[in-house]
Amino acid sequence: MKSDSPLSKANDHYDVVIVGAGITGAGIFRDLALHGLKVLLVDSKDFSSQTSQSSSKMLHGGIRYLENLDFALIWEALHEKNFWIKRAPHLCYEDAFYLPIFKESARPLWMVGIGLWLYDFLSSFKNSPHKILGREKTLKAIPGLKSNGLSGAGVYYDAVMDDVKITLEVIYDGLIEKKCHALNYVTMTSFENKDSINILELKDELTGEEKTVTASQTVFATGPFTDKLMENLGNIPWTPRLLPSKGSHLWLKKSKIKLEHPMVLNDKNGRVIFVIPHEGAILVGTTEVIEEGSFFDIKISEEEIDYLLLNLNNYFPNAQFEREDIISTFAGIRPLVKDDTSGDRGKTSRVHKVYQPYHNLHVILGGKYTTFRVMGQEISRNICQSLNKNYNSSLTQKALRKRSNVSSFKERRKELGRERVEKIIREEHVRTKDDLLTRRLGLQNTGVWRFTPPYDQFLEDYEDLLRQLD
Ligand SMILES: Cc1cc2nc3c(=O)[nH]c(=O)nc-3n(C[C@H](O)[C@H](O)[C@H](O)COP(=O)(O)OP(=O)(O)OC[C@H]3O[C@@H](n4cnc5c(N)ncnc54)[C@H](O)[C@@H]3O)c2cc1C
Repeated sequence: MKSDSPLSKANDHYDVVIVGAGITGAGIFRDLALHGLKVLLVDSKDFSSQTSQSSSKMLHGGIRYLENLDFALIWEALHEKNFWIKRAPHLCYEDAFYLPIFKESARPLWMVGIGLWLYDFLSSFKNSPHKILGREKTLKAIPGLKSNGLSGAGVYYDAVMDDVKITLEVIYDGLIEKKCHALNYVTMTSFENKDSINILELKDELTGEEKTVTASQTVFATGPFTDKLMENLGNIPWTPRLLPSKGSHLWLKKSKIKLEHPMVLNDKNGRVIFVIPHEGAILVGTTEVIEEGSFFDIKISEEEIDYLLLNLNNYFPNAQFEREDIISTFAGIRPLVKDDTSGDRGKTSRVHKVYQPYHNLHVILGGKYTTFRVMGQEISRNICQSLNKNYNSSLTQKALRKRSNVSSFKERRKELGRERVEKIIREEHVRTKDDLLTRRLGLQNTGVWRFTPPYDQFLEDYEDLLRQLD
């Protein structure tokens, strides 16, 4: 956008600077802001525009982690899921997930029943209780599902969420504290740790403006970008720790199947693929492949498209989805941390890790979207103690205080109106067309949940406003 850089309004010194405004950085920002600290959050792209807008859009315990016996992670994630369903019902909702079981499936229906009971148990029975359906009821619930060898289905409850909007609203909540600032399109270009103070060079990617800020404490919440960032900075003691794993999704037109609830497919090796219906579309994903090169703004490959369509068509043989059924696609990199599972990305634990190359530099890697609130607490506690503040882990239990102007699920069919669009641009840190269309309104890239009003019509009606964002 042709305007002054927000960097000019930044202070020279902060208690804490957080680099990376995906969900991980956003969660820590809010936590520290609620503790009265002076905090700056920066991201070299728009807030929530990388991994945190490319998830499978589930707040979930992770049914497949039962196989890895990751009970502590599942327990924590299920409790966080149920926490957010209560606290932010406009951004997530519980839904029934159908897991069809066939004669050739790795586990018979009775064994799936035991697993689903355990899942409910790990939620302290706060999940709606699971069910086991016979073959006929399964076919009725999922019309068009292949019937050959079908035994029935397990049904369990997880949540569907709007990943972009949760991150945005978590940041907006922190920004209510006037001492705190959040700047998008601001890159940390260098970092120096000197006499217990961190010196960060920041650069506005849109205007070129630069500024040096100092911070008593710094957090790198740079997700999958961390190893490359450390390599580029070159002056921080660090050994590469990530096992990056790309995952991609398709949004497909729903007209070929009548799916009311999400379902879980398995590929021929037992890998899980989720299919989530939403209005006139279905979300299908994900893949698991190794990605080389830059991780920013990555795209799905042709092979991944083939893989997802093939597996969907195996379950719905009469539908035969093709490329022309694709509405849009999106991809992200899982910031997995290497462990002792010999590089098997599917089995690598989703538990997050915290590192401290210096006593006042904290690096957080891995984890899941679902557990973001509790993930950063170790860092927030450590920082509060270093700055002589009492840490109170219950502060983040409050509901989010500032809503985005367009809420995904409840308001998605409401007309936007010029006043509202202008308000969004003014209030919600919109700096480029893509920020407005993709993340604040969810129009362009259906990595978010809104499909109306028609995109082309919107471009025409608001051409003058969009021109200012070029
Ligand atoms: C395909 C896929 C599906 C997933 N599905 C789910 C799911 O359904 N449920 C779930 O709970 N979890 C899911 N996850 C995991 C979850 O999405 C991630 O764990 C989470 O989004 C990571 O967030 P993050 O903030 O750590 O990283 P990011 O969102 O990538 O944020 C890091 C930020 O750092 C910024 N940055 C990098 N370098 C710099 C710099 N030098 N200066 C300033 N900024 C910088 C980047 O621009 C980026 O915005 C999924 C992940 C993937 C990839």
